[in-house]
Amino acid sequence: MLQSRLQDAHLHLQSPRLMANSDTIVKQAQEIGVKQMVVNGTSPDDWDEVSELAHRYPEIITPSFGLHPWRTPDVRDGWKEILIEKIDSHHNSCIGECGLDRWMTGLCKQAQEDAFIFQLQLASESNLPISIHILKAWGWLLETLEKTPTPPRGFLLHSFSGSAEVAKQLAKRGAYFSFSGYFLRQRKMRVQETFRSLPRERILIETDAPHMNPPTKWICHPLANQANHPANLGAIFAGFAEMMGENKERLAEQLELNFQRFFKE
Ligand SMILES: [Zn+2]
Repeated sequence: MLQSRLQDAHLHLQSPRLMANSDTIVKQAQEIGVKQMVVNGTSPDDWDEVSELAHRYPEIITPSFGLHPWRTPDVRDGWKEILIEKIDSHHNSCIGECGLDRWMTGLCKQAQEDAFIFQLQLASESNLPISIHILKAWGWLLETLEKTPTPPRGFLLHSFSGSAEVAKQLAKRGAYFSFSGYFLRQRKMRVQETFRSLPRERILIETDAPHMNPPTKWICHPLANQANHPANLGAIFAGFAEMMGENKERLAEQLELNFQRFFKE
C-alpha cells in the first residue's frame, strides 16, 4: 500500500478523551503516515495543554490557540491578553478554533461576533493561519468578512459544510476548505459535491478528533470511548480520494502543497 504523507489540518489532541493516551495516539498516527497535526485549543482552559503537546512533539504538532464560539458564554475575563501571550510564546502559532454558530442554541450573537472579529483581526495583523468553525451561519460570515480584514495568506474553514455557491464566494476571498471524514456519509452528498467543485489548490483534510467520527467503514483505529482517532486520517484520505475521483498519489501531493502554503509559509 502507498505510504502517503498526510497532514491533519484540524484536531483537538488536548481533549480529555485523547490527552491521557496522546503518546500512543501520536505514534499510531505517525505509523500510518501522518506528518503534521494542527492542534486547536478552544478556550483559555485548554491552551496550556495545546502548548505542552507542541513542546512534546515539535516535529509534528503545530499549536493553534482560539476561543470557540461554544465557549464564549463562560470565558474568563482577560482572555484576549492571555491569547496574545500564548500566540507569542510559540514561533509557529496559529489562531483557532474560532467562528460563528447559529446551530447551537443559547449563544449570544454579539459575544460570538466580537470574539470572532477580535481573532480575525489578530490573524490579519500578523498574517497568521486561522481555523474557522461555521455552522448554519454562512450569511453572517460573509457579512462579517465585508467589514473585517482577513490575513493575506487566506483563512481555513474547517469541517466545511457550506454550499458550492457559498464556497465560490469564500474562495474568492482566499478561503481554504478542509474536509472532515464525517462527511463521507452517503446522505452528505451535497457537501461531497461541493468539494468536487472546489479549486484543488484550496482543499485540505482533517479528523477533528475526537469529534466527527467517519462512518464505521473508515474507522480503522476504534477507541473505547468512541472518540475519533487521529490515525483514522489514512482511511479518511482514501475515502476522500475515491469521493473526489482523484489519483491517491497526486491528491496526497496536492494536499501537502496546500498545507505547506497555508500553514507553513
Ligand atoms: Zn474542531
